[in-house]
Amino acid sequence: MSKVRVQNSNVKIMKSNRRSFIKTAGLLTGISMLPMQEVLAMLFSDEQAWKMVNLRGNTGIFTERGGTIGWMISRDGIVVIDSQYREQAEHLIGEIRTRSLLKVDILFNTHHHGDHTSGNIAFKLLAGHIVAHKNSKKNQFTSAQKRGNTSDLILPDLTFENTFQKKIGDETIRAYYFGPAHTDGDIIIHFEKDNVVHVGDLIFNRRFPYIDTAAGASIENWISVLEKIRNQFDNDAIFIFGHANENYPVTGNKEDLKAMENYLASLLSYMSREMTSGRSLEELLNTKSIPGAEEWTGKGIERSINSAWEELRNE
Ligand SMILES: [Zn+2]
Ligand SMILES: [Zn+2]
Repeated sequence: MSKVRVQNSNVKIMKSNRRSFIKTAGLLTGISMLPMQEVLAMLFSDEQAWKMVNLRGNTGIFTERGGTIGWMISRDGIVVIDSQYREQAEHLIGEIRTRSLLKVDILFNTHHHGDHTSGNIAFKLLAGHIVAHKNSKKNQFTSAQKRGNTSDLILPDLTFENTFQKKIGDETIRAYYFGPAHTDGDIIIHFEKDNVVHVGDLIFNRRFPYIDTAAGASIENWISVLEKIRNQFDNDAIFIFGHANENYPVTGNKEDLKAMENYLASLLSYMSREMTSGRSLEELLNTKSIPGAEEWTGKGIERSINSAWEELRNE
């Protein structure tokens, strides 16, 4: 589970929702079999807690399960970025309701993946608009079709190609599309006054990323997308990341974007070197870390290897 960097003391942690209570109660029956440390780890693991953290001004993040949610709650309106899963979205809506009774003006989807959009259904009657890139909408629909389940699908009703803008009170919210990267439909959203940018899954902070080649991802273009983002915003901007490795925050700065660029560039140069020297995909799948980007760890290095293989083979 992702850790959040706590920027100030405005943090609320909810530990005892009903389901985790039942889960905990279930665990207690077998409790004497386990070392105390493991029991404590289970009882207080992040999986049982959701967090609302204020970042700056009216903006902040919600974390529980799935891609980090960004939010803006002001007296003039509410914006939510990504929706995790239905249960998590309901927790978030409960938190929003303790702060404001306004309608949600916009729910953005940074891209189509289920850990960012499955909670859209919870916003069915609550959100004025769901906004996404046009490719993201297409991907949401085709993935649901492949799963054979389109009944819980709440698709974006507003899509755009390059930029989208909305003013709410004294805040301007601008969304950008810089081309294929993690998928072919990743957008980033900037709260200009608070200077907070949600970059979705363009950043897996020090954690092996998912690269959705089937949905039009491009590692090479991903690198230049991150470079464009760094050039677009100043050093004061706080960035929200879709995912982070254990003990790394889901927010950060341009240095973290640069580090992700370095991971992707190191991956491509390692793979192209090894492929030129004739190594097979099977051999390369034994790779434990990417030379030059050893900070990236965790499960799923094979996703990087497979995607880079596919991309370089087709060049
Ligand atoms: Zn994700
Ligand atoms: Zn994703």
